[in-house]
Amino acid sequence: MNTEPGITCIENGQLIDGTGAEAIADGSLIFENGVITYAGPKSEAPELPATTRRIDAKNGSILPGLVEAHFHATYFNIRSLEDLDIKYPVEYVSMLASVNCRLALECGYTAARSGGCLFNVDVWLKKAIDNDLIPGPRLSPSGREICSAGGLMDWNPEFRKIGMEGLVFIINGAEDARKAVRALVKDGIEWVKTYPTGDAAAPDVNDHHTLCMTFEEMDAVVKTAHNHGMKVTGHCRATEGIKNALRAGYDTLEHGTFIDDEALEMILARDVPVIPALYFEKASVDHGPEFGLPQRVIDGHQETLDGGAESALRILRAGGRIGMGGDYGFGWNPHGTYAKELTYFTKEVGFTPLETLMCATKTGAEIMGMGDQIGTLEAGKLADVLVVDGDVLADIAILEDRKNLQAVIQGGVIKAGTMAPRQETSVTVDG
Ligand SMILES: [Zn+2]
Repeated sequence: MNTEPGITCIENGQLIDGTGAEAIADGSLIFENGVITYAGPKSEAPELPATTRRIDAKNGSILPGLVEAHFHATYFNIRSLEDLDIKYPVEYVSMLASVNCRLALECGYTAARSGGCLFNVDVWLKKAIDNDLIPGPRLSPSGREICSAGGLMDWNPEFRKIGMEGLVFIINGAEDARKAVRALVKDGIEWVKTYPTGDAAAPDVNDHHTLCMTFEEMDAVVKTAHNHGMKVTGHCRATEGIKNALRAGYDTLEHGTFIDDEALEMILARDVPVIPALYFEKASVDHGPEFGLPQRVIDGHQETLDGGAESALRILRAGGRIGMGGDYGFGWNPHGTYAKELTYFTKEVGFTPLETLMCATKTGAEIMGMGDQIGTLEAGKLADVLVVDGDVLADIAILEDRKNLQAVIQGGVIKAGTMAPRQETSVTVDG
């Protein structure tokens, strides 16, 4: 990824560094050749040469670029889960996914961790983004997901004779689990996404209390993945499924909806980050009827929303780590509305704005395994920065409107926002 040569100074705004520390009212952020050299009060900032590029934050907010920690670039605002299986070929899905990546960056998300993808599109999106062929967040890719037979993503009855080749490996037993992970080894993915539990969305197959994958299957996935340097996450709602995933050594938990005291202790003991992805539930409740979701499915989403919110607050208050990622890519929860997750956690769950922003920056970067490079505004880190017109601590919802984003900066380069130069298509494709 290209960086901007020279020195840049962003000033005249409140500086929120992403560590959870109080904001600095009149802050300065200085970076040189794409790397931060100073983040602190303007009054203590070093002298800078006359050639310094200066960005006026106009009494707004300067914060780290946001990290979407449960990103589905390849989910194309589907109207039902079946769309993932039968609607488009991979060629068109790839194009839609590249548009979603550009959109995420324009929304202030300079990095994203995948929560699962169709075919092996993520890895190639990452390559295209890293090589500046397309704009998008720095991507921590996953690949085809793993689900046991009869589980959440195995919805085709036998008579359809169509598989889930593009989305999931359907497994039966530990040997199948190992086989599926080994098939992913050479793809270049970082995250193996699995489905240990069911979901309110599919009450006919398996409701959200059902255990789908066995411990043996989860254990086989983790041992094989770790052996090959890959990390494992899973769709974990039901209490026993959460505990089995933790016992098996999962690196993160998606959702972590219904935890009990023992599960909380296990999460804290291994400091496993949890990504609740609540806005998907909220949107399912609010817009489900327009998309034909049955009332009992909507009721299930409401229960999941309430349970997930309660668990997230418990985990954070007990000293655990929460990532912000809203599971966007569904018709009722479309790409481009990512910051609604942050508003929801601040206004409905009980996180303070500083806590929410820490989860959406520092913790997100840690989940990606990039905590030493991005996620906070500190000297030595890459200049992935968001300059917002307005006070995000007074009203975090201003992040939802792209018109409020003055500059979305990645590696020191202004990639989007009202200050961004008009983009000309000019790329060199490698052989
Ligand atoms: Zn998801």
